[in-house]
Amino acid sequence: MTKHIFVTGGVVSSLGKGLTSASIGLLLESRGLTVRMQKLDPYINVDPGTMSPYQHGEVYVLDDGSETDLDLGHYERFTSSPLSRDSNYTTGQIYLSVITKERRGDFLGQTVQVIPHITNEIKAAICKFDGPGVDVVITEIGGTVGDIESLPFLEAIRQLSLDLGRENCLYIHLTLVPYLKAAGELKTKPTQHSVGQLRQIGIQPDILICRTERSLSRDERAKIALFCNVPLEAVIEEKDKEFSVYEVPISLMEHGLDELIVRKLGLKGGEPKLDHWRELLHRLRNPQHEVAIAVVGKYAEHRDAYKSIYEALSHGGLAHSAQVRIHRVHSEAVQQQGAQALLKGVDGILVPGGFGERGIEGKIQAIHYARTQGIPFFGICLGMQCAVAEFARHVCGLQGANSTEFDPQTPHPVICLLDEQKRITDKGGTMRRGAYPAVLAPGTRVAAAYGVLGISERHRHRFEFNNAYREILTAHGLQIAGTSPDGSLVEIIELPDHPWFVGVQFHPEFKSQPIRPHPLFAAFVGAALEHRKPAASAPAPSPAAIPSA
Ligand code: GLN
Repeated sequence: MTKHIFVTGGVVSSLGKGLTSASIGLLLESRGLTVRMQKLDPYINVDPGTMSPYQHGEVYVLDDGSETDLDLGHYERFTSSPLSRDSNYTTGQIYLSVITKERRGDFLGQTVQVIPHITNEIKAAICKFDGPGVDVVITEIGGTVGDIESLPFLEAIRQLSLDLGRENCLYIHLTLVPYLKAAGELKTKPTQHSVGQLRQIGIQPDILICRTERSLSRDERAKIALFCNVPLEAVIEEKDKEFSVYEVPISLMEHGLDELIVRKLGLKGGEPKLDHWRELLHRLRNPQHEVAIAVVGKYAEHRDAYKSIYEALSHGGLAHSAQVRIHRVHSEAVQQQGAQALLKGVDGILVPGGFGERGIEGKIQAIHYARTQGIPFFGICLGMQCAVAEFARHVCGLQGANSTEFDPQTPHPVICLLDEQKRITDKGGTMRRGAYPAVLAPGTRVAAAYGVLGISERHRHRFEFNNAYREILTAHGLQIAGTSPDGSLVEIIELPDHPWFVGVQFHPEFKSQPIRPHPLFAAFVGAALEHRKPAASAPAPSPAAIPSA
């Protein structure tokens, strides 16, 4: 029988429920158990695809094209649990489904209500993965206990212990134990209140994971245990990691978390095998080299907007035992101050994906700088589209070349909408999304990086390379390094006479794991390291000029 772990959060948001859930997943998988991961989000949007990164951070895309919460990125980086559209449900999706059923007449004669109709729908979503071969489903509940909007989700997980048996469900509550400098003490009261709120709605947590800046003493843990009605061993500390999020799983294991989980749920499985993860931490802690990469985007100040890109860059560094220092550079600042002022001295420049006109000219300037200075360049999705526009304008002399997304009247629409996209009016869930195959041209940098000629990568965009410009662009030296298998869609461009200049229409960052760095990120960081070599004695970029990560 499949067991269920529910992870809730209390006191404040941004506690790292996603990372903690992913860490639990890794620990259980390391014991040979089969795990499925899932996130329930209490907002009304059907998916985060229509939200700004300011609201929600990056939109994480799965193979099946679902646009999901960025916590699913943690799940994929830490575990091997396959994810699909059943791995992320929102309130909006749940209601949409119930209301569709109501209109169809599925509930004829009944009053449709939050309990039982909405809660039944939530329970069905949670149990989607149950079955032979799946030992545990870990369901993370978004939001903070006490929020009005997460109540139906909490009520559903409360009911599930009646439906499935209390012994088959485990409630883990992640909470904050703040340190008050003035008092010189760690404070347990917020945790007591948060657990109190959970108990009011009928959920007694089995395990408390306490986020804290300082280690909890035995007395502090005992106090939390007493007030929150859990045994002492179930108060687990999760201290802030100064170094890397990849330290969390081992630290939780050292505090006995996985041992407790398997015991409480009666799970079989062996001792945890985490040698590969320890090895990874060792490499992270002992880099042999350092490299500076600028990520030029319009959400540079937002830590989560390019989450998977930052992670994938650090994975790329791991492939070369290099620490990647990421400089988050505002594309609008490049526009105002010039590329030289903000990018001088970096070893590589990455322009990530994005939407809308703001900051576009700054990105194009950054790409111009990378191209003309021979600095390794990696353009992702919008980054590739901007690279095509830059090349068209400055190498092919196509003045005003642009994407029709930013200039519908451009004389040279080098990036444009295909007919099927022109017909679409709805904004939600209508882009080209999910995994698409591509074939690579032999002898290219990308073919060398992947080591194969057939690849599959995840997409999320509306606009495409305009084939009407293929001839003129390639005649001037742009290489089409990858296309859709029928050759009709340009998926990768390269500049052969540049040290490393690659633009991809897809999002490779979604498929990079610390233990399996993505080949393109590894190759890009490798090229940046090469670029750094001759200039090893050159002064490091001034931190004042470049906002550092
Ligand atoms: N805005 C561009 C498009 O829709 C690029 C999208 C992206 O970078 N994800 O095609």
